[in-house]
Amino acid sequence: MAYQTNELRGGKDPQYEVIIIGAGVGGIYQLYKLKQLGVNVTVLEGAADLGGTWYHNRYPGCRFDSESYTYGYSFSKELLNEWHWKERFSGQPENLRYLNYVADKFDLRKYMQFNCLVTHAKFIESGNYWRLRLQDGREMTCRFLLTAIGLLSTPTPPRLEGMETFEGPSFHTYYWPQEPVDLAGKRVAVIGTGATGVQVIAALADMVGDLTVFQRRPNWCAPLNNAPISDAEMADIRARYDEIFAKCLRSPGGFEHEPDRRGFYEVSREERVALWDRLYDEPGFGIWLSNFREIFTDEAANAEFSEYIAERIRKRVKDPAVAEKLIPKDHGFGVQRVPMETHYYEAYNKPNVHLVDIAQTPIERITPTGIRTSERDYDFDIIVYATGFDAITGGYDRIDIEGVGGQKLRDKWADGPITYLGMQISGFPNMVTIAGPQSGSASTNYPRGIEVGADWVTGLLEYAWEHGYTRMEATHEAEEQWSEHVAQMYSTMLMRKAKGWFTGYNSNVPGHEHGRIRYFVYNGGSPKFRSTIIGVANDGYKGIVFGRRPGSNDDDNPRPQRLKREPAL
Ligand SMILES: Cc1cc2nc3c(=O)[nH]c(=O)nc-3n(C[C@H](O)[C@H](O)[C@H](O)COP(=O)(O)OP(=O)(O)OC[C@H]3O[C@@H](n4cnc5c(N)ncnc54)[C@H](O)[C@@H]3O)c2cc1C
Repeated sequence: MAYQTNELRGGKDPQYEVIIIGAGVGGIYQLYKLKQLGVNVTVLEGAADLGGTWYHNRYPGCRFDSESYTYGYSFSKELLNEWHWKERFSGQPENLRYLNYVADKFDLRKYMQFNCLVTHAKFIESGNYWRLRLQDGREMTCRFLLTAIGLLSTPTPPRLEGMETFEGPSFHTYYWPQEPVDLAGKRVAVIGTGATGVQVIAALADMVGDLTVFQRRPNWCAPLNNAPISDAEMADIRARYDEIFAKCLRSPGGFEHEPDRRGFYEVSREERVALWDRLYDEPGFGIWLSNFREIFTDEAANAEFSEYIAERIRKRVKDPAVAEKLIPKDHGFGVQRVPMETHYYEAYNKPNVHLVDIAQTPIERITPTGIRTSERDYDFDIIVYATGFDAITGGYDRIDIEGVGGQKLRDKWADGPITYLGMQISGFPNMVTIAGPQSGSASTNYPRGIEVGADWVTGLLEYAWEHGYTRMEATHEAEEQWSEHVAQMYSTMLMRKAKGWFTGYNSNVPGHEHGRIRYFVYNGGSPKFRSTIIGVANDGYKGIVFGRRPGSNDDDNPRPQRLKREPAL
């Protein structure tokens, strides 16, 4: 029988077997996997080029918190041998170069379509396919829709009166202009002191005339301890890549950093401090992830460690009053995403850097010449909004996604995401969220998690193709059980009380105020997540119901659809 898995017999073909939305780290890798299989696939990217996070965020100081060589893809030995990471935590320009290098090396660019912002996606039940609408009005169809739209891809400017009246340049860090910004001698304001704020503030302190930081709540930050990677060091890393990636696979966070297995209370105070002294001076997230596990679950252990970090801050900031303002009082270390910094605290020792505590003197409005707080007016040449993202579900809320029976995803997720394995959603057949909310891929060193997620998704699609299935959907029961499991894991974690994006808090997003937890991330660690999803696959994708179009035949050709034509670009 002629090969027909992709056809709507008697009707129209969907244009593509697979559409991937998003050309970031996730979309690029998922495309690579499907291209290997010869699938008729395209990537739709809203931006003018590929790179996702590393295309958009061009602010000074933007760089990895992951070790560069653990962030790069692991799938190609050739790629690993060719690419030389120049810094342990490399900066945005190099990261973007890397992703372009990967896309070009594997000839992926021709399968990507840029300036294609997807605004609507509707599941067509009669034919088991998705119809997408782009911002420019074009429509496209596909059998399977894979979302690689990012978890930190929807920036949230603050909701301040008068923002449009400011006469100078002002932008959210996500939209930092591509052309050079003249900063020399300028009076610059930065609003926000999260992971991005901490990077941009430290960098701007050396570049501008005068810098004023508006801080509502400080974060616990720790030194990145970045350094160049020499040729000899890179050769050593290359020789150890297998070992490095194996270690990342074993560790809960997908990093080289593994938790200290000793019990917090089993060792003396001196031994604890010895560990902390060592970790504070080591590169990267070790201070967070190689710490005692009780830091995340035990109030007293967390308080003792937080006080240790507070002392470090007091030693680094000369003015005791400023130091106290920079020490968080409403949460302990590590219950929110820890911003990694390079001379961040020392920036406040410079005479041209000022800190305004807007918890005490709130911003009243943006004026044509600057910012008005309850205390006074400030004049600026440039205002930078480092106010973060509508994390995890923001990218989904921006698309009008309509599933079975006209149900909207944004309604289903109004109080927080409900998913099966963070990758499937009941009522939204044939849609897969590669590293979606509640997946273990989303809460780790991303590319390590994204590779795991995309490999699994590829296996799932192959399974459907091999069996001639044109429809797959998580059951309601499977989804309920998974979401319940994800929620339960929060119950032991101190993070459940924190005002951070792990719990869905964002005061700039209506409905995301403090008070109701959104169970956004899977806290079981990547090894457990991986073994769970592999188990599901080995069990014939338990929890997912497969089907064919009415009238289709079980003997349909069981091979995946090969690329029949180049995508219409
Ligand atoms: C400043 C910053 C630093 C970070 N540092 C690290 C780090 O050190 N380590 C780490 O593990 N993670 C880090 N992250 C997280 C980072 O987002 C991930 O590492 C990774 O880049 C995510 O890749 P992605 O492909 O899933 O999503 P993204 O890179 O966000 O890409 C998603 C793409 O989808 C596109 N898109 C979204 N919606 C639509 C739509 N409706 N239509 C069309 N296109 C759409 C976007 O334009 C974007 O290009 C950082 C994030 C930020 C913001």
